[in-house]
Amino acid sequence: MSIFDKFQQLVEDRKALLGGGGGDPFNVVINQVLSSTEAMVNGRRTILAGTNNYLGLTFDSGCIGAARIALEEQGTGTTGSRMANGTFENHVALERELAEFFHVGSAIVFSTGYLANLGLLSTLAGQDDVILLDADCHASIYDGCRMSDAEIIRFRHNNVSDLEKRLRRLGDRTSRTLIVVEGIYSMLGDRAPLKDIADIRTKYQSFLVVDEAHSLGVLGENGRGLAEEAGVEEKVDLIVGTFSKSLGATGGFCVSRHPELEMLRYTSRPYIFTASPSPSVIASTRTALQIIKTHPELRHRLWSSTTRLYERLRDMGFILGPEPTPVIAALVETKERGVELWSQLLERGVYVNLVLPPAAPNGGCLLRCSVSAGHSDEQIEKICQAFSSFS
Ligand code: PMP
Repeated sequence: MSIFDKFQQLVEDRKALLGGGGGDPFNVVINQVLSSTEAMVNGRRTILAGTNNYLGLTFDSGCIGAARIALEEQGTGTTGSRMANGTFENHVALERELAEFFHVGSAIVFSTGYLANLGLLSTLAGQDDVILLDADCHASIYDGCRMSDAEIIRFRHNNVSDLEKRLRRLGDRTSRTLIVVEGIYSMLGDRAPLKDIADIRTKYQSFLVVDEAHSLGVLGENGRGLAEEAGVEEKVDLIVGTFSKSLGATGGFCVSRHPELEMLRYTSRPYIFTASPSPSVIASTRTALQIIKTHPELRHRLWSSTTRLYERLRDMGFILGPEPTPVIAALVETKERGVELWSQLLERGVYVNLVLPPAAPNGGCLLRCSVSAGHSDEQIEKICQAFSSFS
């Protein structure tokens, strides 16, 4: 027996699934990035329709300019954590700007969104506490739960009565319970029923965490996410987010109107024991946050392309997630067919995300598109045409 034997089954499964050629969907090499929505892939000009780059800001000249100045003035990296190496002024400035943006008192920047969930959940929920999470939550939320000493309970996806049933069973422990949901769910693109969940949180005196990774800059009149759109910001205790989607960089954050959030800086291992975001990342993110505030037309453009793509794919007969959002996932019955369609889309010059079980529901597979404000009408049309030959 070797330590590697456990991978044998995976090796064989992958060979069986990908043996038909078409490349490895999970190892696509982008030869050259041309813009926020186009790249050369396998030597072919390809429309990027799976980037999460919702506002197309990765090539924004203001973001690039700010990053370039920071790079030249402050260097390529911080080379350590804030606790050990110290905090750069720009970290503090971004935290202040995030807190102002969300109208709360506290904000903490993490090195990724994954670490933000890990850092928050593993530290805040301790022994005798409970985390009630939606079953469709992201892996970073599950992993944060695993790292915490709390009791972990899942409720059925977007099912408010199941959530309430489980809360009721907790008796007086509900006041030591974190309810964790997402603004827009990353796989099927559906929103959480946040108004009802916020009411339940108040009724049971629990705490509500919303991961707005896919909804920041996308939902709400000012782009603050689902909590803003649903009008329940005062009932949300903690918001987690990422810089890696609408903000076009890498990094994560948590904001709260509870000043105790600050204590994470002294207690949260995923905050303390990893290098802080590099100066150029912080600088481009600060500019991107200003753009979210001052350019609502990007959001409007994103939504008009979203509606068009969702309706066209639906009319072609694809089974999609329950509502149009910039995450548009087409369900395919088997993973073999999913790999085949995914490869054909790539050959037609359209890159989407292939999602296999267990990430995709019911043993099936998802061809997951994410729409960007950077997509032109012509690109959306080309995406539709690439899908149309399958329907
Ligand atoms: N939360 C959700 C809901 C996500 O979808 C993701 C990334 N896909 C993350 C957190 C992690 O974000 P990051 O890429 O910044 O680690």
